Amino acid sequence: MQIDSKLPNVGPTIFTTMSKMAVDYQAINLGQGFPDFNTQPDLLALVSKAMLDGKNQYPVMSGILELRQVISQKVESLYGKYYDPETEITITSGATEAIMSAVLATVRTGDEVIVIEPSYDCYVPAIMLAGGIPKFVQMSPPSAQNQNFSIDWNKVKEAITNKTRLLILNSPHNPTGAIFDAADLDALESIVINTNIIVLSDEVYEHIVFDHLKHQSLASRKTLAERTFVISSFGKTTHTTGWKVGYCCAPASLTKELRKVHQFVVFTVPSPFQHALATYTNNQNTYLSLPNFYQEKRDYLTAGLKQTKFIPLTSPGTFFLLADYSNISDQKESDFSIWLAKTHGVVVIPVSAFYSNPDHIDSNHKLVRFCFAKQGTTLDEAIQRLQRI
Ligand code: PMP
Ligand code: GLN
Repeated sequence: MQIDSKLPNVGPTIFTTMSKMAVDYQAINLGQGFPDFNTQPDLLALVSKAMLDGKNQYPVMSGILELRQVISQKVESLYGKYYDPETEITITSGATEAIMSAVLATVRTGDEVIVIEPSYDCYVPAIMLAGGIPKFVQMSPPSAQNQNFSIDWNKVKEAITNKTRLLILNSPHNPTGAIFDAADLDALESIVINTNIIVLSDEVYEHIVFDHLKHQSLASRKTLAERTFVISSFGKTTHTTGWKVGYCCAPASLTKELRKVHQFVVFTVPSPFQHALATYTNNQNTYLSLPNFYQEKRDYLTAGLKQTKFIPLTSPGTFFLLADYSNISDQKESDFSIWLAKTHGVVVIPVSAFYSNPDHIDSNHKLVRFCFAKQGTTLDEAIQRLQRI
């Protein structure tokens, strides 16, 4: 049967496509962002224990209270903002479901939503399903003055109209690794203050920030926190991307609306994982040790790429880094990534895939994204293959 698609431009995601290529060409997969090592045995033991203890029936819709309490304490100690676990914190099926629920709960037909490009892939389909209109603002690419992508807040301001309902932000930023500093939050505050704009802040890499820099959560500013869905994910923090446990902290008025959607999209999130994560996250070291752990891997891949024709860019956050391939090829990023997988057996993600118009010249900077959440042996093998180019 032919039906009129609600998402005519959506196909398999770039992550699915490139991971399939890794299998097809027996390539090293530094594309899709997931660790190729296991999580901590004590976390696995906590999941087994929860199952054996009978924590196998529906937990409450908003997530088990113990987990919401642990998140509340963590967020308050890190960012100085108290969220009431009863009314302001919701456990979601990964950050993806939190994003979908927040967008569906707030965006109406014809509302405009500002999306910063390059952007993570799930924002625009959520806006389309809600009947909203994405308004794209492109980040400034790296330059002699600034080694990473950055947001020109004047452009954000110019994109705002009386139809702007929501502004979607992401720091630490996938795919560029850029992070907000205090000046970014100042600029954002001055733009949204005295407006009715709601903000969705995707902070899934909040604990993966390097070089002793500090994650600037939107929760840390009162004027921002009172209008923001702050969304995060245990997938990144505990090396368990396949468990799909995320959460959203937001003022009670926003949380109430988010939960109305969450209740009917998934109702709730698997119980044993929630119990295990509540106990595990009580130990601060589980997330405070992440910067050192991943910085070592970032530095290892950066040093390896310096032995190749790629030019690695700095990555202050996330488990991704970008590298320039202009010394190797003039191809556009998608063609280069396919060539690299087929010819040299290494899978990466073209940064252009994170733009609404991937083939446009402004979306192609001869940059590809490498994921370094990998074992040393995996990174070694990839570097050896890349050295042969
Ligand atoms: N936002 C960003 C920026 C991400 O990189 C990811 C995941 N990889 C998500 C959201 C989705 O997180 P989850 O897997 O918890 O749904
Ligand atoms: N967030 C992961 C990435 O950026 C992918 C998640 C997914 O495949 N949906 O690579």
